[in-house]
Amino acid sequence: MSDTTPVIEIRNLHKAYGSLEVIKGVDITAKRGDVVSLIGSSGSGKSTILRCANLLEDSQDGDIVFKGEPVKWSGQAMSRRPADAKQVLRIRTNLSMVFQQFNLWAHLTILENVMEAPVTVLGRDRGEVETSARQYLDKVGIGDKCDVYPAQLSGGQQQRAAIARALAMEPEALLFDEPTSALDPELEQEVVKVIKDLASEGRTMMIVTHDMKLAHDVSDHVIFLHQGLIEEEGVPETLFGAPKSERLQQFLSSTM
Ligand code: ADP
Ligand code: MG
Repeated sequence: MSDTTPVIEIRNLHKAYGSLEVIKGVDITAKRGDVVSLIGSSGSGKSTILRCANLLEDSQDGDIVFKGEPVKWSGQAMSRRPADAKQVLRIRTNLSMVFQQFNLWAHLTILENVMEAPVTVLGRDRGEVETSARQYLDKVGIGDKCDVYPAQLSGGQQQRAAIARALAMEPEALLFDEPTSALDPELEQEVVKVIKDLASEGRTMMIVTHDMKLAHDVSDHVIFLHQGLIEEEGVPETLFGAPKSERLQQFLSSTM
């Protein structure tokens, strides 16, 4: 792979739930170090795109390409499934997802939460995983919370633990689905700060967010979705500063 090969390429993605077509031909590319944000109204298809990208959801048509490697499908075009379980695992572990509701294991400590997947899914050495898990928890500012359970933490601390858990997979890219939406405003900022730090480190990220300031500040590229299609996209200065589409103008004025 040359260094210019995109980490993630989504080409002409189509996804339906039964007869409801929710993604109608979407192209997204994230090169190494790119931060790509997806914005748009509720129901426009943002989460679905992230879930299709890391193969949590099947899609019906189009290509998903991870570091130059297209997902292999079996079956008919409209009822296809991923053909190669190892490839699915490789892509899923390399595009590590952070969810709105944190999804931490309630019965595991914070340290155990971060260690779980590297040990059980990737089969890494427990001692090495523990050392790096502690480092990732330090990095997100909760290194002192290793031995407590998720319920003992604030929402902002839980989300930072979830980010440490995603980092512990040492993924090629991080996918965030509304990472601050479940948080009170005063806790949102501690998560925003972690995301900004990751962006300035040059991490490749796709971020679904309702936080236009975050999208403006961290993104290299912003995509505005409307009903399963890209309505407008561009660099944040242009997209937010001089939106062309009337729908985007309306959307932005409704979020201010
Ligand atoms: P967003 O994240 O932009 O709010 P979603 O990707 O969650 O939008 O949803 C896109 C569309 O797909 C919506 O119309 C939603 O109702 C529909 N949808 C999402 N998940 C499912 C599902 N599991 N079954 C049926 N329809 C779904
Ligand atoms: Mg969503």
